[in-house]
Amino acid sequence: MPVSTRAVNGGWRESADPAATPLPPGIASVLSVLSSSAVVLDAEDRVLQASDAARSFGLVEGEQLMASELLALARQVRRDGEIREGEFEVTPGGGVGGRVTNFAVRVAPLGGDVGCEGLVLVLAEDQSESRRVDEVRRDFVANVSHELKTPVGALALLAETVEDAADDPDAVRRFAGRMRQEAARLTNLVQDIITLSRIQAAEPVPDPTAVAVDAVIAEALDRCRMKANARGIVLADVGDRDLGVLGDEDLLITAIRNLLENAVAYSPERTRVVVTTRRDGHRAEISVEDQGIGIPERDLQRIFERFYRVDPARSRATGGTGLGLAIVKHVTAAHGGTVTVRSVEGSGSTFTISLPLREAPQ
Ligand code: ADP
Repeated sequence: MPVSTRAVNGGWRESADPAATPLPPGIASVLSVLSSSAVVLDAEDRVLQASDAARSFGLVEGEQLMASELLALARQVRRDGEIREGEFEVTPGGGVGGRVTNFAVRVAPLGGDVGCEGLVLVLAEDQSESRRVDEVRRDFVANVSHELKTPVGALALLAETVEDAADDPDAVRRFAGRMRQEAARLTNLVQDIITLSRIQAAEPVPDPTAVAVDAVIAEALDRCRMKANARGIVLADVGDRDLGVLGDEDLLITAIRNLLENAVAYSPERTRVVVTTRRDGHRAEISVEDQGIGIPERDLQRIFERFYRVDPARSRATGGTGLGLAIVKHVTAAHGGTVTVRSVEGSGSTFTISLPLREAPQ
């Protein structure tokens, strides 16, 4: 039967039962500063105190510990006085449809004072987020190895082929050209991996300086002009001038250049790519709009993930690394900004970066 509870010490609730066993002195204040789920059980397995985290995870309801695995552990600890720890997948409430959460759990007997016998402390730390981060890291390493193997394997094969074709100068020239292509692919990939690692290690930008948006766009456009010209794609630049932001100019150029390169790569020949700059309150909005193949609705959420491609064959054919948009996302986040996309399959995409404006000094 649930008893009423009251909040003490912020997120720490104790049983309001006047007959409840008191906690050993000092313990309540120590526990109240812990961010993990903490529960104190009395000798009858009733919850004497529980943190808000323990209740919001559903580990505690009223004066009951809802995870049977943890209750069994607490009983063992009460019996032999040994501290126990381990990792548990707990479905709070033991319930059907409940969310499984991974907890690192530590259970210890509490105090030996008269009147405090049988008290057991259960500390449970939610591991889901750190597991997810670990998984993302492991996936990234696996993906990087896989992505590196492709051009390296191709280079090894091409080198062998060149050796075999030593007497045929035309074939040698052809294969040498392919080797150059693969080497360029490898260089781009390594460069993108370095950029991504650099920026992830330094969010937010460590030494921001005043950056002129016009200069960033002009430089990014210059770097894409050759590729655009080769495909008869016109690059245009319109909108508000003289906007300033705070940040790292090279990284911002890299981000806009990645959007422009994609716009060119995923558009048919003789189309237009337009960069528009707009002042929107205290923010600068830079959008890159193309008349290209567009992105299916179901992929829109995923294209900013590392190595996610809508069409891997097409990305490979255009020399894409699969990291361009992940870099854009991290660069904007490191500048306190956001990146969004609108797209209609078959008619084009618009990527918009929004950054806080650097207001002119008074
Ligand atoms: P990639 O190197 O493959 O271009 P990105 O991270 O830059 O990698 O982009 C991820 C995927 O998003 C691309 O493979 C492509 O499928 C899609 N994409 C990105 N920009 C555009 C665009 N402007 N038009 C259509 N598809 C795009």
